[in-house]
Amino acid sequence: MGMKMDIELIDKNGLRIDGRKPEELRPIKIEAGVLKRADGSAYVEWGKNKILAAVYGPREAHPRHLQKSNKAIVQVRYNMAPFSVGDRKRPGPDRRSVEISKITSEALEHVVMTELFPRSSIDVFIEVLQANAGTRCAGLTAASVALADAGIPMKDLVVGVASGKVDDVVVLDLGKEEDNYGQADVPMGYIPRTGEIVLLQMDGDMTQEELFKAMEMSMDAAKYIYGLQKEALRKRYEMIAREETEEIEGVQ
Ligand code: ADP
Repeated sequence: MGMKMDIELIDKNGLRIDGRKPEELRPIKIEAGVLKRADGSAYVEWGKNKILAAVYGPREAHPRHLQKSNKAIVQVRYNMAPFSVGDRKRPGPDRRSVEISKITSEALEHVVMTELFPRSSIDVFIEVLQANAGTRCAGLTAASVALADAGIPMKDLVVGVASGKVDDVVVLDLGKEEDNYGQADVPMGYIPRTGEIVLLQMDGDMTQEELFKAMEMSMDAAKYIYGLQKEALRKRYEMIAREETEEIEGVQ
């Protein structure tokens, strides 16, 4: 962010480096229930990002000193595969992944009804298979669907989406070049139904007016992404219902 380079991010027609308009998202696909062994799972393709989320639990929290007597903890491990970026990434946790895990956990604890499961842990694994900017938002969006797929009681789904500023223009959902050479990136975790913001970060800088414009763009986009999340879950439930009907019919 903020590296000043002679690279044009907005062309003379007002379009972005990948041809998008300022308020346009990258293409997003969401699928629920993609893993057999996890209690819940989701797969998200968001532009060139490819992200898997798997959920286990609620189960007894280990080690025991992590247990909270009145509620469950939501433990998140965000991990980037070594092959997820151009240069092979050193495997294992680093400062960035520890930070993303923490903010994702905090965002999810706002929606999971943790008070129903004292002393338990709900474990969320976010595996970035391919990264191209915006993985924390795509990861949060995927994790939220995976939690719902696991049947974990939640107040609502959370959407992760970012907006920012490139070439002095406020834009939605920064791509890789925009992230590298732009002026600001503002990832947000948002609950469209209630209007709650459960995550807000800013890398780079922009004026207050620009920030509000960016946030509004994200909130609008979040409504659309929320629709994709619900659609993915609806398809998943339909499939389970169909499988169960077939099983019953198979017995007769
Ligand atoms: P986010 O993925 O949420 O936008 P960052 O802003 O920290 O998080 O990272 C932006 C992008 O930079 C990532 O999506 C990824 O494409 C790339 N990136 C992050 N970490 C590494 C790394 N260790 N090696 C190579 N590229 C990386």
